Amino acid sequence: MGDSNNDLIDLNEISMDASEENQADAPPLEQSQENKNYQMENAITEIDGINFLLEKEKRNNEILLKKLKTHDQSTQVIIRNLQRKLEEVKNGRDLMLNQLVEKELSYKIDMEELTAILEDPADDITCVICLSPWQSTGAHRVVSLPCGHIFGKSCITLSIRRTKLCPKCRLQVRLPDIRFILPGTP
Ligand SMILES: [Zn+2]
Ligand SMILES: [Zn+2]
Repeated sequence: MGDSNNDLIDLNEISMDASEENQADAPPLEQSQENKNYQMENAITEIDGINFLLEKEKRNNEILLKKLKTHDQSTQVIIRNLQRKLEEVKNGRDLMLNQLVEKELSYKIDMEELTAILEDPADDITCVICLSPWQSTGAHRVVSLPCGHIFGKSCITLSIRRTKLCPKCRLQVRLPDIRFILPGTP
């Protein structure tokens, strides 16, 4: 048993020696390696954290971009609708303006005709050939030509036989062009 005890002591001594040897050489290496590993792990954890934050930021930006695109599209649709409405209003306004100009023009013509009639009332009752008023019946009864000019029948009959022209506007006329404008027997 004494041998085996000695053996055991010896073994312990050997293992002690071995651990002493390890402690003398390896520990600084192991420690620095451990330290390096620890630092590396720390760095990796930090990088992972940064990557996670960057990914999160990227996703947020993508969502924001999508929202902006949708907003931009809807804004463009609104702008297009407004432009179309504006065009319609403008076209409607142009059409109304044209109609007003046409109406104004026709009123102006009517007014000019009325003014001409009002300015020269003597024309309406006087035969410009003999400068006497015409009558509603008889030889000097009132008649008109296709141009609208009015004379006593006897005067215009003589005038057309001579010149075949309206004495007022020089329109070419013939005897059958003479029209009665008031009813009655000749
Ligand atoms: Zn006359
Ligand atoms: Zn005439």
